[in-house]
Amino acid sequence: MKNRILKTVLLSACTVVAASASYGLIPYKSFQDPKDLEREQLISSKVNQYTNYVAPAQPAAFSEDMEHTVKSGENLSTIFSDLNLSREDLHKIIHANATGKQFADMTPGQDVVATVNAEGELEQLTYAKTPFETLVATRHDDGFDVKLLSKKIDYQVSSAKATIQSSLFEDGVKAGLSEKIILKLADIFAWDIDFALNLREGDEFTVVYEKLFVDGKEFDTGDILSVEFINQGKTYTAVRFEDNQGHTGYYSPEGNSLRKAFLQNPMDFAKISSHFNLHRKHPILNTIRAHKGVDYSASIGTPVKTTGDGKIVFHGIKSGYGNVVEIEHGQKYSTLYAHLSGFKSGQKVGSKVKQGDVIGYVGKTGLATGPHLHYEFRIAGQHVNPVTAKLPRSLPMDNAVLAKFKTQTQPLMAALQKAKGDALLAKN
Ligand SMILES: [Zn+2]
Repeated sequence: MKNRILKTVLLSACTVVAASASYGLIPYKSFQDPKDLEREQLISSKVNQYTNYVAPAQPAAFSEDMEHTVKSGENLSTIFSDLNLSREDLHKIIHANATGKQFADMTPGQDVVATVNAEGELEQLTYAKTPFETLVATRHDDGFDVKLLSKKIDYQVSSAKATIQSSLFEDGVKAGLSEKIILKLADIFAWDIDFALNLREGDEFTVVYEKLFVDGKEFDTGDILSVEFINQGKTYTAVRFEDNQGHTGYYSPEGNSLRKAFLQNPMDFAKISSHFNLHRKHPILNTIRAHKGVDYSASIGTPVKTTGDGKIVFHGIKSGYGNVVEIEHGQKYSTLYAHLSGFKSGQKVGSKVKQGDVIGYVGKTGLATGPHLHYEFRIAGQHVNPVTAKLPRSLPMDNAVLAKFKTQTQPLMAALQKAKGDALLAKN
């Protein structure tokens, strides 16, 4: 375990430098959200407090910063032992307030800096929790004052355009998109495009999204703002909108939600192995027996999701179907998931589920030749083919919301048009 000593400053020679050095990790001048002023005042008052505390009483004292990068398996307790810090102080920091507990949860690769005085006593502990958040514990009377300080995040609008040659994922990465943005894109169009079955070479998309910066360095991607996907010649467009309740969603440029009451597939990247067929010869029984659902082949353990919001009405074994979950979606609709290897823990008959919640895992229980999911969809008690059935959409927005929608989404749609134009220019 190597601890790097960063700075040793003689306080008698230069009090102010020592005080600012111990706050070197937090460039407080870059805080700029509504609480900024408060934070700036907070930090400058702490600097003064620190200066007053050390300088006059101990002319020969020095402060020392010990930096430590968190490794896998380490926690604040092992780090305190390595740095020869007091266990009593550790206890005081963790229990200082609700924020103090955040010191107990450390991520490998992040930095901890302990500032100690001449006696080796901890004066301040900082932990860079995320690229934009730093936990700071400062000695104060008999205990510690713990705060979570946030830096300003800068958002930059970026765009990319790609043509499908191999897969959404590979071509998305080639176009410079992060895995997160690609998954978000697939999620936005989950109701309209079946990326497992219907993606074709030559399909193309343009996406406008946020890049996040802190201290001028890109550290993550944010939300997709607007996106166009051309699938087999058909154009789908989505734009992000935040309503009065603060719920964000994706809508067509006319203001229709892209979210439908039901997902196209109960699994990500599902592949159909047997279609809905009322005259099918059963593979095991070898007799003509209607196949009143769709079979998706997938390996054992693949998560199965409920395609709509609803309530579990059956949860257990159903002879040839093996382990089954059946869900009622209001009065009219119901779905059934069979041959599961196991159930999602904590769910039972009567449990409420949200669209996309995992309800179980692919298996081959009951009469099944191999691991697959058997999925049934019923409308008013009648089995229908979920692949071809017209599934209900969610409700349209009222006029007041629509006006807000237009104002909010106009610049996002303009950015999409510009991104398409830019890509066209680059091509020519
Ligand atoms: Zn089946």
